[in-house]
Amino acid sequence: MIALADCNAFYVSCEKAFRPDLDGRPVGVLTNNDGCVIARSPELKALGVAMGAPAHMLDPHITRQCVLFSSNYALYGDMSRRVTAVYHQYTPDVSVYSIDESFLGFDGFPGERLEDHCQAMRLRVRQETGIPISIGLSTSKTLAKIANHLAKKEAACEGVALLPPESDTTRRVLERLPVTEVWGVARRTGLRLADMGIHTAWQLRVADPRQLRRLFSVVMERTVWELRGQDCIELDDMSVPKRQIMTSRSFGRLTGDRQELHEAIRHHASCGAEKLRKQQSLACALVVFVKTNPFRPELPQHHESLLLALPRPTDDSRLIVHTASRGLDRIHRAGVAYQKCGVMLTDLVDRNHEQFDILADQQSNAERERSERLMATLDKLNRELGAGTVKLGGGRENAAWHLRCAYRSPRYTTRWEELPVVKMR
Ligand SMILES: [Mg+2]
Repeated sequence: MIALADCNAFYVSCEKAFRPDLDGRPVGVLTNNDGCVIARSPELKALGVAMGAPAHMLDPHITRQCVLFSSNYALYGDMSRRVTAVYHQYTPDVSVYSIDESFLGFDGFPGERLEDHCQAMRLRVRQETGIPISIGLSTSKTLAKIANHLAKKEAACEGVALLPPESDTTRRVLERLPVTEVWGVARRTGLRLADMGIHTAWQLRVADPRQLRRLFSVVMERTVWELRGQDCIELDDMSVPKRQIMTSRSFGRLTGDRQELHEAIRHHASCGAEKLRKQQSLACALVVFVKTNPFRPELPQHHESLLLALPRPTDDSRLIVHTASRGLDRIHRAGVAYQKCGVMLTDLVDRNHEQFDILADQQSNAERERSERLMATLDKLNRELGAGTVKLGGGRENAAWHLRCAYRSPRYTTRWEELPVVKMR
């Protein structure tokens, strides 16, 4: 069995964990430089505030009632690490998929006790970190994702939902689910599927997998098998468009060479930036990670990831590569042979939205246009002369990078001078 554990409204929940007075109030978190809304509490959603809405264009009658925070990546990264540490108490098989989502493997665990086990884990996470989570259970990652939606939506589930592949409940859920809400099915793919008469997740499940492979891709074929309950999708195949872009790969052999690791990270970071520009998004933050081979227990083991804020929402390869390299320097351990490393661009916002946001940026228009022209040229050269024709080197430290974050909460868990204070009455 596979579980998808997902933190509810993660950034907002991190803020609320230290501010219980905010319970029930509309709360939002802004991108760096206080540009756009990137996380919303259910109460803020209910006021009609869209994801990515520019903060300075919010209606004054909304800003009066809600509490907005600058993003506090030091806090979110550390809280994410704490939540993951609790998962490790319940299963050794944890794959972090994004800052607030992990797939957990429960192979060999007695099925009839699994829901209780997950319920206990959920309460434990809440108790130890203050973060509410939801858990979806099934035999494939795609079904576990769908079960997770159910766990969030249906109050009766109490945060844990199980969807066995062959059950009436599962069939009913899939019949009601638009195909574009299935993991990895993009909106444009949805249009083509609709032309073939496939509108719901159930219709996709009963479609011919080989035909879909021919018409779409091998990932689409696997999605069909996944909907039938067979686990066959690798996490590297899947990054949900618009929310995050993951680029990672295993090395051909284990390597501890610093130069080699840096080259790989630079490569992943520039590929990610290129994908970002292709889908017209900007990233606000990125995660760098390194991993050793867990099947070589005789070697030193180390897996670590680090969440870093980008100096501003950006699609500029130079900034992204530079930030990722700095991250690698902080997590890389000398003398350890790594199997895999990667970069995940996260907290993506719509580029066209961000352009209205004149207040958010200290970058001048001229600078921005220069960056856009340079990146367009870079993409054109790599497209026409072959991928990797133009690559970026190390990048320079730029002392002029200062984040504007007027409403950032204290970094409660990572700075001694910002610890929360408890008063007894
Ligand atoms: Mg979440």
